[in-house]
Amino acid sequence: MSTTMPPQAEAVVDLDAYRQNLAALAACAPGAQLMAVVKADGYGHGMLEVGRAAREAGATWLGVATPEEALALRSGGDTGDVLCWLSTPRRDWAPLVRAGVEVTASSVEQLEEIVASAPTRPRVQLKVDTGLSRNGAFGSQWDALVTAAALGQASGRLEVTGVWSHFACADEPDHPANDAQETAFRAALDDVLAAGLEPGLRHMANSAAVLTRPSAHLDLVRAGIASYGLAPNPQLQHDVPLRPVLTLRARLAAVKRVPAGTSVSYGHTWTTDRETTLGLVPLGYGDGVLRAASGGAQAAARGSRVPVVGRICMDQLVVDLGDAPADRGGVVTLFGPGDDGEPTADDWASAAGTIGYEVVTRLGGRIQRSHRGA
Ligand SMILES: *Cc1c(COP(=O)(O)O)cnc(C)c1O
Repeated sequence: MSTTMPPQAEAVVDLDAYRQNLAALAACAPGAQLMAVVKADGYGHGMLEVGRAAREAGATWLGVATPEEALALRSGGDTGDVLCWLSTPRRDWAPLVRAGVEVTASSVEQLEEIVASAPTRPRVQLKVDTGLSRNGAFGSQWDALVTAAALGQASGRLEVTGVWSHFACADEPDHPANDAQETAFRAALDDVLAAGLEPGLRHMANSAAVLTRPSAHLDLVRAGIASYGLAPNPQLQHDVPLRPVLTLRARLAAVKRVPAGTSVSYGHTWTTDRETTLGLVPLGYGDGVLRAASGGAQAAARGSRVPVVGRICMDQLVVDLGDAPADRGGVVTLFGPGDDGEPTADDWASAAGTIGYEVVTRLGGRIQRSHRGA
C-alpha cells in the first residue's frame, strides 16, 4: 500500500503515554521489579514496539503467555528477561531455553518435560494455584512440584528462579478471595523455603493489585492493562495517573443528508427522528470493533461526541453527525485518551457489556497500526 495515501482506518499507539504509565506503575511499587505484560500482541498495541518501549521505561521483565510469543520477542531483538506461562504438553523446550527465556512449571509432569527437552540447565519458575483455579499446581500437586523442583535443582538439572501466582478478584479490592490468596501464597513460599529452595522472585500482582494491594507487590509486579492506560475494572478506585495509549480512528467513506424517518443499517434497529447527516465509518466487527456495542457506543467528530447508530456491520458502521458540517474523508475517532472529546476504550467496553481488555485485544483486520514516540 502506498505510504502517501492516508489510511482508511488506523490505530495510533502513543508510546510516550505507555512509558509514562509504566513509570507511574513502577512508582506504586518502589521495592519491586517491573514486568511489562505484552502477551496477545501487546494487548493489541504491537508486542515488539511496546516491548522495546517497556525496556526504555525500565521494565526489567517482559511477560507473555505462550512460548511462541517469547520466541517472537527474541526474534524481534529483545535480549532481556522474559517469562512465559502457558503451554500444552509435548513441546520442545530447547529453543526457549537456548534463547534464555524463563519458563513456568505448573505440575511435576510439566517440570519433567522441560528438563527432558532442555539442552542446558533451564531457568524455571514454579506456579502455585492459590485460588484462581486456572494454571498452577494445587494442593498435593504443589507439594509434589516443590519436591521435584528441589531434587532437580540439587542435582543440577534445573534452576528455580521464581515462585508465582495470579489473583482472581484483585479488581475488587474488598473481595475476601484477595486476602485468602495472599495467605495461601505465603504458605506456598514457606513450602519452597522448607524444601531448601531460595527463589529470588516471588510475584503475584497484576495491574489491579499494583494499584491497590501493596502487600502483594513482593519482588516483582506484572502490569498489563493499566500500562495501556485502561482500567482493570472501571469501578476500581485509585489515584495513579494513567493515559489510554491507543487511538482508533477512521476517515468517513460517505456522508449523506437524510430526512426524519430514515432507518439505518441491518435490521433497521434505529430510525432518525429529524433530518440529519449520517457518516459512514469504514470499521466493523471484521476489524474487531465489537458488534455488541451497537446501540450504545459513541465516537467523536470535529471534537464533538456523536452516537454510533444502528447495527455495527462487518466492515462499516454509521454515526449520526447531526447538523454539524461534515465531509467525506473527515476523521471520526472511535476511542482514544479523550483529548478531542472522544470516548475511551473503557467507554466502548461498557457499551458492549465487556472489559477494556477485550476492546483493544480484538483489534485487527484492516486497521493500519502506527506508533508515535518510538
Ligand atoms: C495477563 C496477565 C497479567 C496482566 O494482567 P492485567 O490485569 O492486564 O494487569 C499478569 N499476570 C498473568 C499471569 C497474566 O496472564
